[in-house]
Amino acid sequence: MAKGKVYQPVIGLEVHLQSKTESKMFCPCPADYFGKEPNTQTCPTCLGLPGALPSINEKAIDHCIKLALALHCKINKETKFDRKNYFYPDLPKGYQISQYDQPIGYEGYLEIDIDGDARRIRITRVHQEEDTGKSIHEKDHTLLDFNKSGVPLIEVVSEPDFETVEEVIEYAKELRRTVRYLRISDADMEKGQMRFELNISLKEAGAKGLPDYKVEVKNIGSISVLEKVINSEIKRQSTILQKGKNPVQETRGLKNMSGETLSQRFKEGSSDYRYFPEPDLPPIEIDDAWIERVSEEIPELPGDKRKRFEKQYGLERDVIRNITVNRKRADWFEEAVKGASKEVAIEVGNWMIGDFKRLLNNSKLKVQKSSPKASQPMAGKLKPNYLVELVELHKSGKISGSVAKQVLEESFKTGKSPNEIVKKKGLEQVSDSEELEKVAQKVMRDNPKVVEEIKGGKEPAIQFLVGQVMRETRGKANPKVVEELLRKEFGL
Ligand SMILES: [Zn+2]
Repeated sequence: MAKGKVYQPVIGLEVHLQSKTESKMFCPCPADYFGKEPNTQTCPTCLGLPGALPSINEKAIDHCIKLALALHCKINKETKFDRKNYFYPDLPKGYQISQYDQPIGYEGYLEIDIDGDARRIRITRVHQEEDTGKSIHEKDHTLLDFNKSGVPLIEVVSEPDFETVEEVIEYAKELRRTVRYLRISDADMEKGQMRFELNISLKEAGAKGLPDYKVEVKNIGSISVLEKVINSEIKRQSTILQKGKNPVQETRGLKNMSGETLSQRFKEGSSDYRYFPEPDLPPIEIDDAWIERVSEEIPELPGDKRKRFEKQYGLERDVIRNITVNRKRADWFEEAVKGASKEVAIEVGNWMIGDFKRLLNNSKLKVQKSSPKASQPMAGKLKPNYLVELVELHKSGKISGSVAKQVLEESFKTGKSPNEIVKKKGLEQVSDSEELEKVAQKVMRDNPKVVEEIKGGKEPAIQFLVGQVMRETRGKANPKVVEELLRKEFGL
């Protein structure tokens, strides 16, 4: 390959997700290790002491089956654990218990939405393993914390189906939404609950088949860094290819947070891990009853919910994506618009991603926390049906748009219903011409210059006067009526 050629990335992704279980994968230690005093959530098993025996956490297997099913995978009815042997200080046993040739799930897919187009990314496998401990590197020494050692980890491996960075990012986000919908992982990247390994190479645009090399980048801890790494690798590898050379097949690590990578070691094949069946654990038989029980616990998944919201409520794509980002927000919306018309639902959706979201962000609350029990008003918080009330007050012309914003804020703060607030504060929109006429006259007297300009032909300045009337009436005036009045006044 040489200069001037156009290259296209070929990307595959491995995602590690910490499963949300009470105890660790193979011992009774608590899995909720984050922020705990180092080495306090450990036992002989997760410390890898000789003679300690592992036992299987069935809840974790449930979670793994659940994700595999949600990703349309086939389930291996006969499955087992294997030892993956390698040496690293944070791996006290000298091997990690993982799955080699009989993963729990295989041959699935995840559908992602790229600018409204559906794209299927094939999933090679979904398997269960355990997390390692943590090395803390200090100036001249390394400390080890084994609280994380043995926490259940699900690995989702994709086929090299990604052709753009956007696809990878959307896939990572959709996978995160999916595990959150399934409630099997919080996928909180700040706590290391979702991590990525990338394999990326380039081929000439339009060329068939896969490139003859593959670069792996390990230990990517966030979606934003993942995006940077992909962009930086595309740049690095295309520079090499344009010189007529081939990038080295290797594993690279993060050099810095801007996504640059550096060579770590030549890639080992799976033979280097000397996988063999874990002798201390029995094989697992996943029968139909088990699969059925787990599949009954799978809720409507984000992709299906988005499609339904579009059909049922006629919401715009961006509004839907925002509302369905988690189950609680979507439930909140559905609770709000129960029985309402499509028209009202669309307005409620707009409020949710607009002013309501702004209020939530400012108050650092999340929708679900604004009203944990949707049917029960919380002091100082907005009930879902209040948004419908607000939309109806606005639509019927009882309150103006700017008053609606004030009412929302008040309702959000006090938990009072919009109807109550409007009534108590006398915020009904004033459409009465006589009353508005008086205000309009006053505004014209106060702004003689503007009046002269309008008379001189500068018609758009009329909007300034409309604004002044709105201000005088604290947003209560019906702006349409005001504009009509003023136009009449100027004979326009
Ligand atoms: Zn333990």
